[in-house]
This record gives sequence, structure tokens and C-alpha cells, in this order.
Amino acid sequence: MTPEVRDALTYCPTLPSLSSVAVQVVEIARDPEADPAHLTRIISRDPALASRILRVSNSPLYARRRSADNLHQAVSVLGFNATITLALSFSLADTLRMTTGAAHLTDYVWRRALTTGVACRQLGRALGRTDDEELFLAGLLQDIGVLALHAALPERYAAIADDDPDHDSLVQREIAAFGCDHSAAGAWLMAQWQLPHYLVLATQGSHDLGLVASDNQSLYAECVAVAGSIAELFLSPDNAAATEALAAQASPRLGLGRDQLQAVLEAVSGELPEVAQLYETEIVSASRAAGIVDQAREVLTTRNLELIREVAAQHHQTAEIENRSRQWRDTAQRDGLTGISNRWHLDQRLEAEFGLAEENGWPLAVGFLDLDYFKAINDVHGHLVGDQVLIHTAQVLETNLREGDLVGRYGGEEFVILLPATRRSDARHVMERLRAAVETQVYRTDEGVSLQVTASVGVTVYDTDNVRHGNPSSLVREADRALYDAKERGRNRVEFFRA
Ligand code: GH3
Ligand code: MG
Ligand code: MG
Repeated sequence: MTPEVRDALTYCPTLPSLSSVAVQVVEIARDPEADPAHLTRIISRDPALASRILRVSNSPLYARRRSADNLHQAVSVLGFNATITLALSFSLADTLRMTTGAAHLTDYVWRRALTTGVACRQLGRALGRTDDEELFLAGLLQDIGVLALHAALPERYAAIADDDPDHDSLVQREIAAFGCDHSAAGAWLMAQWQLPHYLVLATQGSHDLGLVASDNQSLYAECVAVAGSIAELFLSPDNAAATEALAAQASPRLGLGRDQLQAVLEAVSGELPEVAQLYETEIVSASRAAGIVDQAREVLTTRNLELIREVAAQHHQTAEIENRSRQWRDTAQRDGLTGISNRWHLDQRLEAEFGLAEENGWPLAVGFLDLDYFKAINDVHGHLVGDQVLIHTAQVLETNLREGDLVGRYGGEEFVILLPATRRSDARHVMERLRAAVETQVYRTDEGVSLQVTASVGVTVYDTDNVRHGNPSSLVREADRALYDAKERGRNRVEFFRA
């Protein structure tokens, strides 16, 4: 993002904003110790939100077996994480809809947001994923940057957006006018709101997948990108071209064939009326949606069979190559003993996460964890037992981290932990949890001897608000310095770097 756009966004008084309930829900999502009762209390303060959550929990869209009579039951039917995501979806949908500005832009973004959300959820189902709500929310938010850019640079944005916007040409005009497009502005805004990291990355990578570094999160961006094309199909008048564009994209990106794509389109068209009702809005009329699906079916089935076969063969070949290189990449990224990320992969991820942190102004916490008196374990029980303890510790660390965090083996009995978009207070929580998990785990040797180990942790947080200079390796150095303090102060403890 150019400094000019960033300043315009930073000092814009009319940016889309979060409701106070949404702010509290975001806090809960970030709090490793939050519980469902807390969430229920917060949602119940907003009666409209509470009644929507209740409606959803009883809606056929979610096809749950039990029915809920009150909010408390609804939260338990839906589950904690799904409720958080839903509450965010409803609150952010209000933000999208209520943002003032050019009415036709808000209307376009809003209809596209809901359609993309629905499409994203259906793509996820077609791919056999269970994180539907997260995918819906990722789709819902992807174009929020349009509203942010419009609010920050109203006259200039009005000059490039015409009455009947089409997404791809809008992106090109944004780049020409501002040097960046709305995916960057949207990701920036979402980072300001401290929304979960996967959402920020999904928006950031939705136009240019190259920007999203790690593999497990790039799927969100891929789904959002393809879902955006599905939305375009439902909202743009040029149906045949939109269908072609979509088919060309869905196969290489998500590995979806034409039949699967056709099924997704039908499911989207079937779900739109219900979503429209839930969000009290009009997206497209049911008959128009059905007509669009019929037309798309024609385009999808009448294309030259010869060509389809050729393309399929080509994709098969590319998929093979990708598969092989993915396997290779995977082994090259893993530590031979423990199976977790190795130092090389750690460095890559650190570099990428540092770049994202710097670009978006979000924090990045880096921890250096070293087992205490590990030499004694080797000396007393032998090297093989020492190896087993290392494997065990790596697993404990990995299972105690959230998705999006990373632990890797730095060397010997040293591990590095990356917590993207994590502030100091949250980093303290997580690192303390890791330390406690290592301490309480009991390892039993083949001879039946029980072993326990402890670990010391040094932490530093890169925070663009506080730190002007810094680079990936200085972060590791700082965490290492803090580790030294933790050892000095008695081991089995967490210390933060002090400049
Ligand atoms: P401190 O609390 O100061 O960290 O004490 P320490 O004994 O853990 O530290 P030191 O650095 O002196 O010793 C690290 C030990 O870790 C020495 C080395 O034999 C052992 N080690 C390093 N890599 C491996 C490994 O792959 N397998 C096994 N079994 N031991 C390892
Ligand atoms: Mg050591
Ligand atoms: Mg040690």
C-alpha cells in the first residue's frame, strides 16, 4: 500500500467501523481463556443479534438435530467457534450495509458480499471442509476495502467507480489510480479491527494469491477468489463470459470439475433466498438466479468436448507435478527427528510473517524455547530417550498452538514459536500455556521410568507502534536474549525482551 493511501485511511474519520458488540466478540475470539457463558452474555446485550443467532440455530440451513429455545442453547447447538463467527458475520454485515457513501457502491458491495459468502461456503462443502462459517465470513468481508477506499478518498474513488461496477475492471482502475487495490485496503482495515488472521490473509490474497505465504491459509484466499467469480456470475449481466472465466479458474485453483462446479452453482442459487431472508435484503430474484444457473449449465456442457479433454489432461499433468513438488516441499520443510517445521521453513515463515506485519501494521510475537538441563536427560537416560523426549515435546508444543501459529525446531533442544498478529498480552498467555504444557507432560521410557522436563522461554514482540526498526533476524536475537534472562532468573519461566 502506498503511504498516501495508508495516510488517507489512517486519518479518515468516516471509515466503516465495528459495533461495540463486534469489538467485544473480536476480543473473545482472541482470548484463549474465553468461555461460552461470556460469549452468551455479550450477544444477549444486542437483542437483534441474539434473535438472529437463535434463528440461525433453528434454521434448516444449519440442519442441526436439536432445536434451541434460548440463546444459551443456541450457542451450545452451534458451538463456540461457529457462534463467534456468526456473531461477527451479522455484526460486520451491518457494518457493510450501514456504511454511508455512494449508495450504488454500498449496494453492489453488499450484494456481492452475501453472494460471495454463500458461494464460499458451498465451495468449502464441495471440497469436504467443515469450516463453513469461517469460509462464509471470509467471503462476506473480501470487498470491504471498496468501502474503505471510497470513505478515505471519496472524490477520487467516485471518479473511477461507474454506476454499474464490475469487479475486475474496478481492481484495475484502483491500481491505476492509487497504486493498490481494495484487497490491500480491506486487509489493512481488518487488521486494524484485529479480526482473526485467516480473514485478513483471505482478503489480502483474494486478488493475488502470491501474497499469501503459508499453505493451509491460502485455501481461504483461493476459495474467496473463486467465490468472487461466482458472485460476478450472479450479479453481472454478461453471463456467458462470466461462466467461462469461472470454469477456467475453478479447476486449477480448487480442483473442481465442471459437474462439481455446476452442483455448487445450483446449491448457491438454492441458498440465496434463505440468506436474503436472514439478512433482510434482496440479492437476486429466485427466478433470475434459476435462469442464470440454466444458462451457466449450457455454457458448461456445450463447450467443445475435444477442448475439455485436452484441458483436463493438461490439468491432470499439472496436478501431478504440483503434487510431487508439494511432497518434496513438505519433506524439505520438516525436521527429520520431530516432524515439525525445520529451521529453513521457520526462516521462510518468519520472513513472510514479518513482511505482512510490517505492511499491515500488525504485531508479530516470536518466542525462543529451550529445554532446561536437557544434557542431564541424555547423561542419565541416554541419547535415545533424549530423542524421544524431543519428539514428545514438539508434539506438545504443536497441539497447544492455534492454527496460523507456527512452532519449528531451531536446533538441538531449542524451538522457535511464531505468533502472527498477536499482541504482547496475548503472547504472554500463549507462551505461558506452552511452558505449563511442557512442565505437566509426563514422558514414560520403555523401562517404565517417568520423566518430566521444563522449558525456559524468551519472547519478543514486533509491534509497529513501538518499534521503528527491526528485521526478522533481530527478532530471533531479541527472543534469544530474553531466553538468556529466563535461564538466569531460575529457568522454567517466560521472560520478555527488554531493550
Ligand atoms: P540449559 O538449562 O542451560 O539449557 O541446560 P541444557 O543442558 O539444556 O543446555 P546445554 O546447551 O548445555 O545442552 C543441550 C543438550 O541438548 C546437549 C545435547 O547433547 C542435547 N541435544 C541437542 N540436540 C539433541 C538431539 O537431537 N538429541 C538428543 N538426545 N540430545 C540433543
Ligand atoms: Mg540450548
Ligand atoms: Mg537447554
